[in-house]
Amino acid sequence: LNFRAVEFLTSAPTVAECPEDSGAEVAFAGRSNAGKSSAINALTGNSKLARTSKTPGRTQLINFFSVSETQRLVDLPGYGYAKVARSMKDEWQRHLAFYLEQRQCLRGLVLLMDIRQPLKEFDLHMLTWAKQAGLPTHILLTKADKMKNGPAQNIRFAVEKALREQELDTDVTVQTFSATKRSGLDKLEQTLNQWLRV
Ligand code: GDP
Repeated sequence: LNFRAVEFLTSAPTVAECPEDSGAEVAFAGRSNAGKSSAINALTGNSKLARTSKTPGRTQLINFFSVSETQRLVDLPGYGYAKVARSMKDEWQRHLAFYLEQRQCLRGLVLLMDIRQPLKEFDLHMLTWAKQAGLPTHILLTKADKMKNGPAQNIRFAVEKALREQELDTDVTVQTFSATKRSGLDKLEQTLNQWLRV
């Protein structure tokens, strides 16, 4: 698939307003600042796409990008930690859970975590829902350029171990990633190609 040709398709304020549930979709999720926009940028080479989803203070939207007529990438915005009220976070999490569980065309979840702060509460929620939905999950440990490769791989091993211990490791893969250095991009593309295959 040519991810450089990805285009913005539509935004949906609620799950009910998503495009027709057909074809194949892969969703991207992560806490605010995890590096999701930068990763989508590195993948698509289109800085406008990811920026669409960064409008603080406005209603959170699910953003759909088309890879082809039948294949889509989906940006599930994280929430800003300081400014958003607890009730809105809860509501947003319900939407996320509903989307992950109900969306038939959803083939996989890419979950982004800053390598220096992996497996926070939000991430564990996402992994639990993905497990309940039987959804394959690919974890990107982002900003891996912030440390040497040895320590970065040790964190990857520690994350894999923690997932096993919490029985959240079924159908979950983990890789290090850097948008800045464009490292790990091949592996991410491989995963997306495999999931979006029709
Ligand atoms: P989002 O909120 O998840 O979309 O996160 P952004 O993509 O906006 O990134 C949040 C911050 O982390 C920004 O200051 C980025 O410049 C920085 N960042 C994102 N990816 C990388 C990376 O691969 N390496 C480094 N060093 N910084 C990054």
